[in-house]
Amino acid sequence: MIELKNICFEQNGKQILKNINLKLDNEINVITGPNGAGKSTLAKIIMGIENPTSGSILYNGQDITDFSVTDRAKMGFSFAFQQPVRFKGLKVNDLLKIATKNNKEIALGNYLTKVGLCAKEYLPRELSGSLSGGELKRIEIASVLAKNSEINIFDEPEAGIDLWSFNNLVETFSEYQKTNNNMIVMISHQEKMIALADKIILLSGGEIIKVGKKEQVMPLLGTMLVSCNKCGVN
Ligand code: ADP
Ligand code: MG
Repeated sequence: MIELKNICFEQNGKQILKNINLKLDNEINVITGPNGAGKSTLAKIIMGIENPTSGSILYNGQDITDFSVTDRAKMGFSFAFQQPVRFKGLKVNDLLKIATKNNKEIALGNYLTKVGLCAKEYLPRELSGSLSGGELKRIEIASVLAKNSEINIFDEPEAGIDLWSFNNLVETFSEYQKTNNNMIVMISHQEKMIALADKIILLSGGEIIKVGKKEQVMPLLGTMLVSCNKCGVN
């Protein structure tokens, strides 16, 4: 279980996260909310990519606030970026081999199949500019699935993936979580993903507006708009 206690995050004098209190269990947790709400920042704080200005993070009762991203990775935390990193020179094959202890081509290929990519076509490909954003995104998701981590953080896995394909991916996430009884923390706006979530966290303006199930959170989502006190945009 992860517990965030009074998490605040400030950057250049701007309060990006305000007093976040949240408990996350081994289930599907979806963080949603408008652009600029602080969702990616919150995910990065859980992973240790950013450090909170104040507050603490507990993992199974242990205070991990000062643990680095490497420490957390060793403890079983995985992260899929909103904008995946292109590891130049590395092949898809290599990336999946690093992620899993299983080196067999067939096992590596299975992870690609799960994200809707043809194993034979993609395993030998380089993680270069020739891959589209959506392909890269799927490969990154496959590498997180291959790691079979305790904590799996996905920042907008749907970005760049067509809706039809993403709907199939939703089943993959659900099966992965059920089989391994691990934790998924996912930032998503997709209705199918939100419908499937055990817990939905609605974030806006750096604050948690609501934590609950689809029926409790969805009606509020429609009223969420990006607003700015300085220039009056709302
Ligand atoms: P979301 O993922 O919900 O769209 P982010 O967590 O990426 O939102 O960003 C939250 C807010 O913090 C946004 O207003 C963004 O512009 C701002 N922000 C993010 N990173 C920085 C930074 N390094 N410096 C200043 N502002 C930042
Ligand atoms: Mg984001």
